[in-house]
Amino acid sequence: GSVFAHVVQAPEDPILGVTVAYNKDPSPVKVNLGVGAYRTEARSLGSLDEMDFVKRLINPFFRLAFYPICPFVTGREAACSECEYFIYEGIRKVYYFPFLSRGEAVPDKPWDVFMSRVKEYLPITGLAEFNKLSAKLIFGADSPAIQENRVATVQCLSGTGSLRVGAEFLARHYPQRTIYIPQPTWGNHPKVFTLGGLSVKTYRYYDPATRGLNFQGLLEDLSSAPSGAIVLLHACAHNPTGVDPTLDQWEQIRQLMRSKGLLPFFDSAYQGFASGSLDADAQSVRMFVADGGECLMAQSYAKNMGLYGERVGALSIVCRSADVAVRVESQLKLVIRPMYSNPPIHGASIVAAILKDRALFHEWTVELKAMADRIISMRQMLFDALRARGTPGDWSHIIKQIGMFTFTGLNSEQVAFMTKEYHIYMTSDGSGSGAVVAKYGEKSVYFDLEDLGN
Ligand code: PMP
Repeated sequence: GSVFAHVVQAPEDPILGVTVAYNKDPSPVKVNLGVGAYRTEARSLGSLDEMDFVKRLINPFFRLAFYPICPFVTGREAACSECEYFIYEGIRKVYYFPFLSRGEAVPDKPWDVFMSRVKEYLPITGLAEFNKLSAKLIFGADSPAIQENRVATVQCLSGTGSLRVGAEFLARHYPQRTIYIPQPTWGNHPKVFTLGGLSVKTYRYYDPATRGLNFQGLLEDLSSAPSGAIVLLHACAHNPTGVDPTLDQWEQIRQLMRSKGLLPFFDSAYQGFASGSLDADAQSVRMFVADGGECLMAQSYAKNMGLYGERVGALSIVCRSADVAVRVESQLKLVIRPMYSNPPIHGASIVAAILKDRALFHEWTVELKAMADRIISMRQMLFDALRARGTPGDWSHIIKQIGMFTFTGLNSEQVAFMTKEYHIYMTSDGSGSGAVVAKYGEKSVYFDLEDLGN
């Protein structure tokens, strides 16, 4: 028999499990509202496209136009205006040939030139330029913390990896190892922090009666947290509720946390997606950095650059002084090295190329705004449609909530009915974020509003 015969079947992840069920459904009109990935009508049933401007970028450092000049150019990602770029179909990678633009002869095996250049290992901390630009994006170009070199930033495996590295760092170097997470929160949060070595507690966040923020409960719970405790805050577009504090409420949260010495750990998975403005969506974070205090920041480029599978993100730790930041970074390396050695190069290169180029950056913000606006108009359409049909209940939470997710207030029977009759898939199970919601006595679901466009 197998030495693993005793291994029991693990349950599906509550969110990704929805996709498993969805994939098994042969219906041609099925819709998956489980996973938080931006879709448009064109993209809804097929695979996820790259955002348009990302498409025009190829790997590392370069931009493309869509006409082939170079005789080698072929393939989907393809072709370059200055003939510096090249896709070799067989390996589907993009190669850089400066010698072509310099009018030099093409070597026998041109791709070797590129391979040696751009497929090197990154340092443990990732692409330095990417790290700098990422900190600037979230904290603001004029952030005193950046100017004073008080921020230690490391490239990590998207938002999840950044949270995990942050957790492991805190477990090793921060005396108060309790983290308070909102109730409810993204279903992976408690697992990431527990396995990262922290002990997880919750603070009240969502009020099912108003389908809004339980601000009083939040303040009470943070007030009674032990001094020094870590507090996880969603920077914007809270997942899964779509409920964010107002700026005034953020200020009260900040004052309370600073007065009690609570350590903020921000999760920013949706910068630009909530309001359509990168700066507006970073306001909560910037308030906490402006007061000179310390905090952690986990950034993801999955949603706002459409780079889901590239796994590109960053962990920043804002410190009191530059010398602390240097020592913190040295310890982050000791966390990362035995975990995965160093992060992948491709996605970080794309992000850096966009962030450092004025024109590309502008194009990105325009496209981001269009995405945010589309999400907002989808909410309105859903709300109007429910109203027009005289659907019982108050659905105003759908237009009040922010970002990709909404709590519909549907119970598990209603969700099962929608799946069975209409092939619409959403979460409603007893684990992950669903479980936290279930505690309120109603099994709410959240879904990706974008998919309602179909
Ligand atoms: N935090 C939150 C709140 C999220 O919703 C997500 C993605 N669903 C993540 C972090 C991490 O995503 P990723 O690892 O793909 O960047």
